[in-house]
Parts: sequence; structure tokens; C-alpha cells
Amino acid sequence: MGCCCSKDSAGDVDEKLMDHEKSIVMVTIPQTRPLQTETSWMIPATAVVAQCHRVTNGDSLIILGDQPIKLLGVDAPDVKGRQPFAAEAKAKCESLVPRGATIWLDFEANHTVDEAGRKQCYVYVRPEGRAANQAQDEGVLVNYEMLREGFARFHPLPQSRLKHEGALTGAVAQARQESRGIWATFIPKEEVLVVVKTKEYHLNPTCSRIPFDAVASLKRINENKALDQGMFICPECGGMNSSLKGTSASSPVPY
Ligand SMILES: [Zn+2]
Repeated sequence: MGCCCSKDSAGDVDEKLMDHEKSIVMVTIPQTRPLQTETSWMIPATAVVAQCHRVTNGDSLIILGDQPIKLLGVDAPDVKGRQPFAAEAKAKCESLVPRGATIWLDFEANHTVDEAGRKQCYVYVRPEGRAANQAQDEGVLVNYEMLREGFARFHPLPQSRLKHEGALTGAVAQARQESRGIWATFIPKEEVLVVVKTKEYHLNPTCSRIPFDAVASLKRINENKALDQGMFICPECGGMNSSLKGTSASSPVPY
């Protein structure tokens, strides 16, 4: 479902996307149809049960007890920074995790809290209406869905690989291929800086995440090429700030 080559009600969107590819500046966000189904995951038996208080951004929420939660591996546009797609990303996250929803939190061994004091985790939900058809331990992985719908970029952990990294980066690749969400207005940079031994690419040659011994051997390639090779943008010098050049009336580009 949600095939990129179908030509029905989204035909005019497809035409807009083609215009976009011809470098015509767009002033509205093309509406990508949502996927018809979410991918099912097994909720780990060790996951911690919690209740959503409210979603604060496309990649973060607060659970009952006032504990802030950050979706591991997910970097969504910032609502406070009024970045393009921020409102859409937040709305998508809210639709997946409504207020009061029961959620299951799963953690990576060594990265449970981020620099802002938020618990970093995988968040599973069991959407209503699907529950009856599902096994008790089946759910939707919110981190994956946000990336698969194109509402966020992949955010790697420093120096270690996420246990679901393959699935998460695969979700980004599919969203990008189908021009979903942020990828509909994405304009690749002519040149990005690639650290050969990592999967990260950078925009700033003095970025603190570039290993000291790699500075001399940085490779310059087109951003699309880097993405095609499964690389992801550095969250420090790139992240959401650099990904979007489309504009919208409701969420102006903040730079
Ligand atoms: Zn960087």
C-alpha cells in the first residue's frame, strides 16, 4: 500500500514533486499520503509499561510522572524552532501515541538518558482497533513509524550501533525513495564531508564529532550519494537544521 507509482488522488502531488525536481521553489508542503498499515513488532518482554501524558515533538513525549522521553534514533523537526514539518511530525506522533495511551519502553544498555536528561528509548504502542487482531505482545514501534513516514531523520548514537539500526535506517531509505514527509522538499547538498570509517557525514569541517585522526582524510561527495550509500547526517553539524529547504506559510524556515 502507499505505492509511490500509483496515480490516483495524489496525482497533483506527483506533479508538484516533479516540479520540485526541476528546482522550482515550492511554497507549500506537498501532502504525502500516509501509509495504510503500520509494521508490527514484537514488544520485548522486558519493556517497561508507561502511560503517555502528552507528545511534545515528533521525537519526544512526556509520560505520566512528568518524565520526558526521547525516541531513540529519531531526529524530528523542532516545534519550538518552527522548523518545516515540525507540526506535521508532532501530529503524526500524537496520532500514534494519543494522550493516555499505554506504551511500552525499551532501552539500549548504555544510552538510557540523553544530554537533556530525557530517557532515550524505543516506544511501542498497540493502536486501538488493531489490538483484537494482534498477538498480545505485538505492537507498533513509534521510532520506526516516524522515520518510515518521513517525519524525521535517523539520529545515531555516538560510538555505538543501535540494536534496531538496520530497520531504522531502512525505514529512512524507503521514506526517501517515496519522497515522504521531509524528503518531499529535500534538496541535497552539492558536497558533504564523509568520514570514511564511520557512516556519518558532516557539513562543518570543524565539527566536534569528526575524529581528530580523520580530518585529513575527509572525502567530499554529493549528499544524495552519501545517503544512497547508507550514510546519515551528523546530528551535531547537520540534523534537522540542514535538511529542509522547502518553506511553508505555517512553519517558516528559521534561518
Ligand atoms: Zn558533524
